[in-house]
Amino acid sequence: MSNPFTFDDKWNIRFMQQAQIISTWSKDPSTRVGCIIVSPERFVLSEGYNGFPHGIADTYERLHDRDLKYPRVVHAEANAVINAGRNGAKIDGGILFVTAPPCYDCAKMIIQAGIHEILYINLDNSKKNVPGWREKLAISFDMFNEVGIPNKAISKKYLFTKAQLDAIRNKQMMNTK
Ligand SMILES: [Zn+2]
Repeated sequence: MSNPFTFDDKWNIRFMQQAQIISTWSKDPSTRVGCIIVSPERFVLSEGYNGFPHGIADTYERLHDRDLKYPRVVHAEANAVINAGRNGAKIDGGILFVTAPPCYDCAKMIIQAGIHEILYINLDNSKKNVPGWREKLAISFDMFNEVGIPNKAISKKYLFTKAQLDAIRNKQMMNTK
């Protein structure tokens, strides 16, 4: 069987590491997700991370109370698709890298945006056991498979560790105080 993916492992790892760096910009205290969309010619077309819409304040209460946070947050993949629309970047036929498996709402958007391939990082074991998540993610991958969008997880051994990403984030914070 021929490899359905556009890039070799080297480029898949590079772009996923880039998505990991973007994830560090999220202000979410518990889950930080990054996404980039690139063209088959390896041009970066769009990027996004999970967060509130422009103009919605990142208050401590909203960031730490799930009942306040979840209804307001835009997921990384959704932001990447929307940012492309806003910026006039053509992502039809693009390849999407995201640092977590897409939820079914983002999966629908990714399909409608014309994304041709998806690379993601598997959830940590702690997150895998959140009630309902496994079923919700199964719907995403059912849809990807039904429409024929190749998708695969990148092995964590090639990617930044949580400790490395925390260190990058700490370095960024030094400049924002
Ligand atoms: Zn989502």
